Amino acid sequence: MNRTFPFFFAAVATVGMLGHANDASAQKDPLDLSGRDTKINPAQNFFEYANGTWLKNAVIPADKTGWGSFYVVRDQALSNMRTILDSCLNLNNPTKGSVAQQVGDLYASALDSNAINAAGISPLWSTLGRIQSIQNTKDLLDFITTQYTKGNRLLFSFSVSPDDKNSNLERARFGQGGLGLPNKNYYLNQDPKSKEIRAAYKKYIEKIFNLAMGTVDTHGKIANDIVNLETELAKASKTPVELRDPQANYHLMAANEINAIAPNLNWNTLLQQLGIHEDTLLIRQPDFYKGVSNLISSTPLHVWKEYLTFHIVNDAARWLSKPFEEANFDFFSKTLSGQQVPEPRWQRASSLVNSVLGDALGQLYVQKYFPPEAKAYMLNLVHNLQKAYAVKIKEASWLSEATKKTALEKLNAFTLKIGYPDKWKDYSSVDIDRNSLVQNLQNIGAWAYQQNIDKLNKPVDKSEWFMTPPTVNAYYNPSFNEIVFPAGILQPPFYFQHGDDAVNYGGIGYVIGHEMTHGFDDQGSQYDKDGNLKNWWTPEDRKKFEAIAQKVVNQYNHYVVLDSVHVNGKLTLGENMADIGGMNIAYAAFKMTKQGKSKKKIDGLTPDQRFFMSAAQVWRIKTRPERLLWRINNDPHSPEIYRVNGPMSDMDTFYKTWNVKPGDGMFRPADERVKIW
Ligand SMILES: [Zn+2]
Repeated sequence: MNRTFPFFFAAVATVGMLGHANDASAQKDPLDLSGRDTKINPAQNFFEYANGTWLKNAVIPADKTGWGSFYVVRDQALSNMRTILDSCLNLNNPTKGSVAQQVGDLYASALDSNAINAAGISPLWSTLGRIQSIQNTKDLLDFITTQYTKGNRLLFSFSVSPDDKNSNLERARFGQGGLGLPNKNYYLNQDPKSKEIRAAYKKYIEKIFNLAMGTVDTHGKIANDIVNLETELAKASKTPVELRDPQANYHLMAANEINAIAPNLNWNTLLQQLGIHEDTLLIRQPDFYKGVSNLISSTPLHVWKEYLTFHIVNDAARWLSKPFEEANFDFFSKTLSGQQVPEPRWQRASSLVNSVLGDALGQLYVQKYFPPEAKAYMLNLVHNLQKAYAVKIKEASWLSEATKKTALEKLNAFTLKIGYPDKWKDYSSVDIDRNSLVQNLQNIGAWAYQQNIDKLNKPVDKSEWFMTPPTVNAYYNPSFNEIVFPAGILQPPFYFQHGDDAVNYGGIGYVIGHEMTHGFDDQGSQYDKDGNLKNWWTPEDRKKFEAIAQKVVNQYNHYVVLDSVHVNGKLTLGENMADIGGMNIAYAAFKMTKQGKSKKKIDGLTPDQRFFMSAAQVWRIKTRPERLLWRINNDPHSPEIYRVNGPMSDMDTFYKTWNVKPGDGMFRPADERVKIW
């Protein structure tokens, strides 16, 4: 998978309704003014002012981890997908391999809970049987690589994607992996909450063994052994913050070099079995592989077999029979994210089709719903933001002329993708039928692996997309130096077809500015206009940039989320820079429009006030505390309130617009306000 920087964390909102903006906006103000809490002073807490009444009244549904803008859009999306999928499902004898047959049959197999419950664990029998027959380290590695080629990612992470330092060359890229909990810190932190989660994880592993093998006393000991092994893998792994440094995670190595560091992985055989015939590899974390190699010789074989058994079942559990599905839900969704009950089966099934056959489902969506006028509006908006960004770069008094010149070259070299890809992925060779969901997913997994490995022999295909068209999100991809806006995000509350510019620049304009700024955040700024990890800054300018970045870290470290839990300023640095830059660029572009230059009020609000209201309402979301905690530990994006109040408290124009004075909640002393672009 390419490294991409999305606007919103994909694990929460992966799909979206395409399309037609609510035409209600033609008559009605697109801003929800009744959602405000006018008793709150906007200069005190703008997020609460803009969304207070809504926040007070909103109830998080039992089957969701939060509620608000993205969640509502996603729910509408799933309903639309359901309409399309139902019509495919009811087709009479569709052509085998056609888009409609494939999405319809996959959907049918995911809905068929009777067949799934009747099958129990049996779809995994042959795989689990192979684990039982492992006799030695060679068998162990054979099993792992064979599973990899079927799309089951065990023990480490591997993919083919462009070389960070040569974006025209595909590389076999190896990284850390193999953990069941979300990241390293979950194994090593000693606070009570982390200990509680580890205890629940052990219970979950034990439960999976009881369900798969029948209840016996020894499963508690097995769960312990597995967590101990994963704890050792965690010790050899990097933290989410350490993973953000592109230079520190770039190691081009010959096969024999990594083999010298991690000999027990037997790289010659490993590579051959994975279908890799290159000698030069991109090893993102050599220390991780060194750790794995040591663990292969120091950990008893039976523990490895138990570890693999657990992961094979765990990876499939969501789509196995009810007891497995429930156990998986109880731990991953309830304990870790606070969700009370699973989403209805049709929602999970629609979401699954979008995630594994997204280009097929996406075609049907786009044919039906994608409005060409949204694309035209976007082209114009992006163009205006690019102009505003260029002015900001030219005016940046802290930058030398030399760095300004290369920054402008990079800005002008952005590739823009809107709506959907020019060419669709072709899944027609994948066998999909209504008999077995697990088999369907294995077939798709094997196909996707082969597609990925085939890239090694081809030039980099820069037309590829890394999100599906119905997705409510956007991303910047540093290797391609591109900004990408799937059709799903071109709708309210981001884009109103008949909305005024203030509302659209505060909404989708903010999203565009955010993605553009990723090209110049702490990570993106290390890549040049051609997508190569290569310094283009003068040393003095880089030093100044890093001093600004440190101010951003300090600002966000200060924000409190739950009781004593703070935002992690280092983990969220890139996203916060993108938010701060994005809002400034969107505002500057808005000021170039006719409405931006006028003072004419709509519904009692000036154009500038409407811009800020819109940006705040895009982030109208309420989140369960468990999910919030999960996000603080994993999500590089700050909680919504700080995606609004953070950037605004750095903008002088915000102070003027809402009359912010020293002592107000939104006030920051002038020298502490972050000014990047
Ligand atoms: Zn982002």
